[in-house]
Amino acid sequence: MLPEAVMQQAQNEFINWQNQGCSVMEMSHRSKEFIALAETAEQDLRDLLSIPDNYKVLFTHGGGRGQFSAVPLNLSNDQDNADYIVSGSWSKSAVDEAQKYVNVNVAATSVVENGLLVVPDQADWQLNSQAAYVHYCPNETVDGVEINWIPETGDIPLVADMSSNILSQPIDVSKFGVIYAGAQKNIGPSGLSVVIVRDDLLEKARTVTPSIFDYTIVAKHDSMYNTPPTFAWYLAGLVFKWLKEQGGVEAMAKLNLAKSQLLYSCIDDSGFYTNNVAPQYRSRMNVTFHLANAELDKQFLAEAEVAGLKALKGHRIVGGMRASIYNAMPIEGVQALVNFMQDFAQRNR
Ligand code: PMP
Repeated sequence: MLPEAVMQQAQNEFINWQNQGCSVMEMSHRSKEFIALAETAEQDLRDLLSIPDNYKVLFTHGGGRGQFSAVPLNLSNDQDNADYIVSGSWSKSAVDEAQKYVNVNVAATSVVENGLLVVPDQADWQLNSQAAYVHYCPNETVDGVEINWIPETGDIPLVADMSSNILSQPIDVSKFGVIYAGAQKNIGPSGLSVVIVRDDLLEKARTVTPSIFDYTIVAKHDSMYNTPPTFAWYLAGLVFKWLKEQGGVEAMAKLNLAKSQLLYSCIDDSGFYTNNVAPQYRSRMNVTFHLANAELDKQFLAEAEVAGLKALKGHRIVGGMRASIYNAMPIEGVQALVNFMQDFAQRNR
């Protein structure tokens, strides 16, 4: 979901943005009006996440997967080793891509213990003291697994794929070398990704790095080395303003906790739905669950659709159901889902 207020504003000014007599999509990215928009969006994101001055914020193309390649190309050489934590399918995909460029050491993999998914404690990670960086995914969108603590990697840069939980709670950016996120969950529409990179990690890209993925080149050109996805950047800016009005990431953290607790309680109390993630690793953004009888899945989805509850089908890799309850999902939306789930369970147990 995107915030309704944001989409309404975008609709209102769609064909006449800031009295320019044209759409923001039709403006040159080099116009002073668009540059002002871009700078404001960056500043608002900096304010929201308290991004220290020694970090660059890049607005880039290529989505989350683009960064699966950009990270090794910018932070390592082809002889280097890099540590990866595999806590679900996206961090696994990051490994698959990185293997093209760097010697990947999978330092830890999530496991099933007593029927529940857990991520090993950091004490059990096989980290390499020579690694060029450590990569992990704090929120696994498909599996509903969230690592709610920040790994300690000393002088080795920590890289986080925050595609599906950026801006969902406060974070200490200073603990990270690179944070990246595809925009399409908590930031705006697809086509844009945000990269937050510490200054000392610039100037290290391999010479073969495509220029549009080279953090240093992108930073030097204020993310306008090539034409940026202007409409997505504009909408992201509106979302940042909306987040500030809502009380920022502190307010989002409270709301996201309340929303996810409501849904997990419904699952746990139902005797009909199950979630297979250990409680301390349950995602506050993507709540996965299975029905007591998988033969009811189709009926559940069809009835949910009629009730106006969309996109509940779990990812094809894991099956079952998944409720993605990103920042813009109001608690009333989660309550509506809970009401439907309780009613469905009662009729089908
Ligand atoms: N990482 C995570 C955690 C994701 O959830 C996704 C997409 N859902 C990606 C990476 C890939 O993003 P994209 O489709 O923008 O390449």
